[in-house]
Amino acid sequence: MGNSSLPQPGPDSVTIRNLPIQERIDWLIEHAHHYAEVYQSPESYLARERYNAKHDTGIIALKCMDGRLNLSLATNTPPGIIQPIRNLGGRFDLGWPHFGEMLTEQVYSVVRNGRHMLVLINYHYSKGDAQRGCAGWGYNTEAARDHTLRIKRQVEEVFGTIHSTVYPLVCGFETDEDALILHGSNHRDVLDLSTISAHDLTSLPASLSRLYPDMPEEMQEDLLPLIQGNIAHIEGIRKSDRTLEMVHHEWMIGIGRGFHWLHMPNLALIIGPYSPELADPLSKAGGIIAANMKTDKIPDDGFLLFSLAPYQDVGVDRARATLKSRFMAEFATHVIRSDHPKLADKINVRKGVLSWHTRALELIT
Ligand SMILES: [Zn+2]
Repeated sequence: MGNSSLPQPGPDSVTIRNLPIQERIDWLIEHAHHYAEVYQSPESYLARERYNAKHDTGIIALKCMDGRLNLSLATNTPPGIIQPIRNLGGRFDLGWPHFGEMLTEQVYSVVRNGRHMLVLINYHYSKGDAQRGCAGWGYNTEAARDHTLRIKRQVEEVFGTIHSTVYPLVCGFETDEDALILHGSNHRDVLDLSTISAHDLTSLPASLSRLYPDMPEEMQEDLLPLIQGNIAHIEGIRKSDRTLEMVHHEWMIGIGRGFHWLHMPNLALIIGPYSPELADPLSKAGGIIAANMKTDKIPDDGFLLFSLAPYQDVGVDRARATLKSRFMAEFATHVIRSDHPKLADKINVRKGVLSWHTRALELIT
């Protein structure tokens, strides 16, 4: 989708995370502006229109705030197609007032255009070391997986169990190789994409029909490129020197929504404003940043706290987004300062609003 000129992760992200904090922040803002420029280009606009015309399925991914999880990158999908919704440990409850309404709204906006909605419900782990798993669940992968099944049942309670329009799909993410583990609709069968070779792609459509016999055919066709993309991505990971990226390296906490432009792994812990208990994920994120500094995974001269609120329309909507961004920044600063006094003088706060239409980021005071 015309994002080919965006700086890609890899050696670059290692170089960047060792820069002084002010330079890292300057680079990040520049990266956001560049993303918006590319997003607004005629080529990019047409590519999105073409993608939406060709693909019948909207995709939402419920996942952990962990910076190593980036489903767009891991499936070679252009940014802006998979809508990520993040919280600590991938914990969600459709009963949360704001979250339930937002999810329903997103589903409506897709369904009203005659499309389907795929809801990827994600947990993560590391096959090499349990301690590289999900800190949000105390590294208990079974508990994290059980929770995804609970979310799946809630999605069915709200959007139906026949799955002809909204399809909840539970999938694991193995962070050593960025491999997706697809859980079949019966919860017994799994398809571990790290076990499939790039030469064996022809059997995939049949495997998907077996795993998801109740999934609409158009949706299976739209799921296929993600799976092929992940298999190609895993092959790329195996050829690269991965040891550096396997562990946490985040130097930013993102609070809010509209962070698609990051599109790179292991840079930020992102917390959506969904849980009624917002302080807990913020405090845990502060703990991960403090640990990253203590173990020299990132420089200890500072970290970035970035609050962001997107808006659809100028005027009232933008004004409200501005207040929201300010509130989240103040709230998050307070939580981190009181729970992690050692980080108090290392916080660099930036607040912004983002236009959904142009993806332009504006910093606010
Ligand atoms: Zn996690």
